[in-house]
Parts: sequence; structure tokens; C-alpha cells
Amino acid sequence: MNRHTILKAANALLLAGVLSVTWFAGRAFHRMHVDDPIYPTPGLTEKILLSRYHSALRSGPADTEIYLFSGKEKGGRLLVLGGTHPNEPAGFLAAVLMVENLQVEKGDVWIIPRANRSGFTHNDPQEASPQRFVLTTAKGDRSFRFGSRLTNPVHQWPDPILHINPAGQVLSGSDSRNLNRAYPGKKEGVLTERTAFAIMELIRTEGIDLALDLHEAAPEYPVINAMVFHENSAELAAVALMDLQLQNMDFRLEESPPSLRGLSHREWGDHSEAASILLESANVSHGRLKGKTSASLIVEGRDKNYVRAAARGLLFVPFDEAGIPLKERVARHLAAVRSLTAGLGDMHPDREIILHRFPSPELVREKGAEACLAPPNQR
Ligand SMILES: [Zn+2]
Repeated sequence: MNRHTILKAANALLLAGVLSVTWFAGRAFHRMHVDDPIYPTPGLTEKILLSRYHSALRSGPADTEIYLFSGKEKGGRLLVLGGTHPNEPAGFLAAVLMVENLQVEKGDVWIIPRANRSGFTHNDPQEASPQRFVLTTAKGDRSFRFGSRLTNPVHQWPDPILHINPAGQVLSGSDSRNLNRAYPGKKEGVLTERTAFAIMELIRTEGIDLALDLHEAAPEYPVINAMVFHENSAELAAVALMDLQLQNMDFRLEESPPSLRGLSHREWGDHSEAASILLESANVSHGRLKGKTSASLIVEGRDKNYVRAAARGLLFVPFDEAGIPLKERVARHLAAVRSLTAGLGDMHPDREIILHRFPSPELVREKGAEACLAPPNQR
């Protein structure tokens, strides 16, 4: 074999290697744009797309699924959002667990697990975040995307240097892709503003009584383990808090500051009749003190840096070697949704909502979200 033939063979091998790496990378990239399956219960009344409330979103990256469960009897009207920030998996998973377990006897419940659907298709740059995390049910693994706080720049680009949101507040340019700064939305705005407008339209046209937005934040962030309430829902938040404390779940009550504009707990309440509340759980994978960002950090929530930070009094939640696992964070969200819904009915009997087969926060807290997730590909 002469030198020329050897070089040709080496080139062919190199080319084959490059092509196979490109193929695998391309396939992995493409999969980031495919929604993970959610398996609704037979109690589901209708699966709707968000574009029903704003046709400009039709078939685009923000056209997310809404799961509607209607009871036989008329009652209150509840909206639950997960995935406003797709790197906050406890809110997303609590919404998925509701879709996969719920049966509604009285009233109507709308659930949006991926409020910012575009944000599930990428990660935050420079965070070395994992693409996915896996939960193992009795009948197989369920794998979920770990997304970004913001809309994918592939879908909304470029960012301005400064952004004036629809409520008139000046923010950094990247916040133009933050759904929770975009309310009450803009009909002809950028994609994130259009998404916010569609959610606002849903709240108004369906006459939502109680709207809940499920989030997570870093343990060193002051608004943590919190229930942030619009002043239209102060009494409801207080009633729910007492109920939660009886279940050994303490929450910090925070009134939505009137000067902080564009957020769900402010604009939903200002622009509709809905009692508007945002819930935060504590997730170390968000924090600036974390070690390696990994799927186990997201699921187990253990980090020795945070144990040290807690010992120095730098955190706003208790934190020890046991960490704050995903199951605890999801259980807190579920318990809060349950208590707030019950409180709504106690305060306004005409807005009562009776939920059957609500995913048990106690079971999730003990055994993990996997104990209430549907098995993969079973329905
Ligand atoms: Zn958030």
C-alpha cells in the first residue's frame, strides 16, 4: 500500500467519524425540540392548544398544550401553570402529576405544564446544565427535559440591549425572553409577549377564579419557600397557609410589590378577576454556590457548599446534608395547590372545586414523584 492510498483511507475514516459525530449530535439536538410525552387520565375533558386564545401562536414553538378537566357540576375555575421557567422542574412536574392523576367532580381545572414551551428546547448557556433528568417508575423510566429560564433565542432573536416590558418596566435585554416579566402580554409583541397575552386571554375569557404559577428559586434568594400573593388574594393565601402549617409545611407569605411589573402575581390580578398567586420552592441547582450541575443535583438536591452556606447563615431556608430533593419540592407545590383550592371553596361556596384522585403530596414526599407518574407508553 503506497503513501497516497494510506492517506486516502485515513481521510475516508476521518470523514466517516465526523459524519457519525454530526449525525448523533444532530439527533440529540433535534430531540430537544420534541415534547416529552404526558399521559393524561381518562378524566381529561379536552386537550387544547394555547393558540386557541391567540391565533398568532398557531403551530409555532410557543403553542403549548393545555389540559382541561371539567366536573359534572359547575363550580370554581382554577388555572395551574408549570414550566414558566423550564429550568424549575418542581413546578413542571407538579403540573404533570395533576394531569396524570386528576379527576374533577365539580368545577373546571386548566393545567399548562409547559407554559414557556420554547424554553424547554434549550439550556441556559455557561451553566453546564444536564439536558435531562430521569425518574424511574415501577414500569420503566420517565425522562424529562431540563430547559432554560428563557425562551429559546432560535425562536426569538435578537435581544435588545434594554427591554421595556408590556407593563412599562425597563429590564435587561435577555428578560425580553422571560415569560414571567412579559405579562399582561402584547398581542403583536415578540414571541414571549404573545405567549403572555394568550395566557392572559385564557384567564379573562374562561373567567378563571384562581390562577397559580409554580416556580423554584435558589436557597440564597430571599423570596423562597414562598407564596407570593396579589392583594386580591391576601385572605386566601393566609387561609391556605394555616392549612399548610397543619400539614407541617411552612411557607413565607409575600405580598406582590405593586412596583414590580410584568410578573404573573402582579399583572394577572391587575388585569383580571383571578386571585393570583406564585409559589416558590428551593432548588440548589439554581444557586450561585452549587457544585457540579448534574441530574442528581436536580433530583436529590444535595450539595455540600449549601450545607456550609447554611452554617454561615447565608440561606433563607434550612439546609443540611439531606438536601432539598425534588420530591419535597413537588410535594410542597401539590400541597399548596390543594390547600388554595380548598380555601377558595371555603371562602366562596359558589367557587368550590372538588378534586378526586389529586396526586398525594404525602405520597410524593415519601416515595417521590415517580410513585404518582404514569408508566411510560402505557396509555
Ligand atoms: Zn421561576
